[in-house]
Amino acid sequence: MELRIDPWGSTVIREYEKLFQYFGIKPFREVLHLIDKPHMYMTRGIIFGHRDFDKFWKLYRSGRRVAVLTGFMPSGRFHIGHKMVVEQLVYYQRLGIDVYMLIADAEAYAVRRIPRSEVIRIGVEEYIANAIALGLDSEKTVFYFQTNQRPEYYRLIQLFSRKVTFNELEAIYGSIEPAKIMAALTQVADVTFLTHPSMGGYEAVLVPVGADQDPHLRLARDLVERFSSEIELKQPSSTYHRFMTGLDGGKMSSSRPESAIFLTDDIEEAKKKVFRALTGGRATAEEQRRLGGEPEKCVVFELFAYHLVKDDKELKRIYDECRSGLRLCGQCKREAAKLLEEFLREHQEKLAQAREEARRIAKEIKPSF
Ligand code: SF4
Repeated sequence: MELRIDPWGSTVIREYEKLFQYFGIKPFREVLHLIDKPHMYMTRGIIFGHRDFDKFWKLYRSGRRVAVLTGFMPSGRFHIGHKMVVEQLVYYQRLGIDVYMLIADAEAYAVRRIPRSEVIRIGVEEYIANAIALGLDSEKTVFYFQTNQRPEYYRLIQLFSRKVTFNELEAIYGSIEPAKIMAALTQVADVTFLTHPSMGGYEAVLVPVGADQDPHLRLARDLVERFSSEIELKQPSSTYHRFMTGLDGGKMSSSRPESAIFLTDDIEEAKKKVFRALTGGRATAEEQRRLGGEPEKCVVFELFAYHLVKDDKELKRIYDECRSGLRLCGQCKREAAKLLEEFLREHQEKLAQAREEARRIAKEIKPSF
């Protein structure tokens, strides 16, 4: 059976274990013991897979120069799925690791066909601003736009094009067109350029991403191998996290406001979204008391696990109460809505100042036309 992941599509990945079998992603639980203070996404299995995380981590632990880099395609408003990526950046930054956050503006323009001015506005006002408000240190982070890089970065993209075939790209990405080819090769440059001696010289770069971005990582690793005698680059390490399910059960997406909670949502509207979310509850309260709920199928439980409950014991209590039928969905949603309100109020208070900071950074980067 053929399994293909489309990084630009709306496919929902449901069977993460298959990614081990088909693509050679390794289970993250096998490297968890290496980390003294793991992030809750690691201990809860939300970060489920990796490539060469152990190599990256050993270099970091032995004091070598390593960096973490990830990117965002500025195609719409910043939602709680994006927050998961920023939280990982903040975690690594607080460990003292250099952090790079890129805005994939070339990709958003080429693949999503969003006008340039809008792409830049979203990149600054939504992504950089929300990342700062979530705790990313703007002084320590390197932000960049794909269209505002140094010449060597673009040279890599040109060189990469020589050792990749149309058939190969089709096999990885499915339907492919010039814009997507450019976007894919640009991503390869993003996850490799920092390891080149003239562009950072890092000994390892870790790329934390959602599982749908693995095609870019696979292509990058292959190309680094093919250019090993010509260009001094290192294969990226990567970790993969599960996606939070959309509130309606599909993929969480900026283009479907009903599927996502945006960090700039009006708070009453965000709470309403929680009340409308798909749950793992039974048809009636009586049935739920008798059979228990199904937290594994519940988006509200995901909200607790991915965002709202940091204490593992508290999360387990919610899980057990749901399973045993002690907890009913109405009350449970009210609890989730209250926690979400507290988070959003605090975040939105920080956002105004973070926007100012994001605009200052944009003036320095000068993304243009
Ligand atoms: S009780 Fe809570 S966790 Fe359980 S199914 Fe209902 S909403 Fe989900």
